Amino acid sequence: MLKRSLLILAPIVAISSCAQQPPMGNSIQASPQINHTTPKSMDDKLNKTEDEWKNILSREQYEVLRQKSTEQPFSGKFENFYGNGTYVCAACGNELFSSGTKFDAGCGWPSFYEALDKSKIIEHPDSSHGMIRTEILCARCGGHLGHVFNDGPQPTGLRYCVNSISLDFKEKK
Ligand SMILES: [Zn+2]
Repeated sequence: MLKRSLLILAPIVAISSCAQQPPMGNSIQASPQINHTTPKSMDDKLNKTEDEWKNILSREQYEVLRQKSTEQPFSGKFENFYGNGTYVCAACGNELFSSGTKFDAGCGWPSFYEALDKSKIIEHPDSSHGMIRTEILCARCGGHLGHVFNDGPQPTGLRYCVNSISLDFKEKK
């Protein structure tokens, strides 16, 4: 009895195992390209050409992050957003601000009174548009974030005024 049922089953197994075989050509499918410019850790600097950034970023992101443009006030996705998590650089993922330090400055851009880590943000004097301001840039990729002012709330008295488009948000799970 047992032998007979095995004989019946054998061809079925053969057919089904054949059907599960990957189609020809699958084995030579290219593995994901290794990007040699990707640093090993978030502490490493990113050095990309402007052409590379143009490919990575949307046109609006490129104008703000690389050409230091400013988005229209009250237009950004994080201006009126109060999720619980971490704001990261939209260009490179560098962790910049905690949602716990976000406050409503009424200025039309997401505002924070403290950086997650001072070393993650570069400050740079900016005298454009007839104003003396302090520009803030992502320390990892050099992307323009916005400006920092001395009229923020305690405990720091600072106001990091950031373009929404320069940010991404990682929700705390
Ligand atoms: Zn960055």
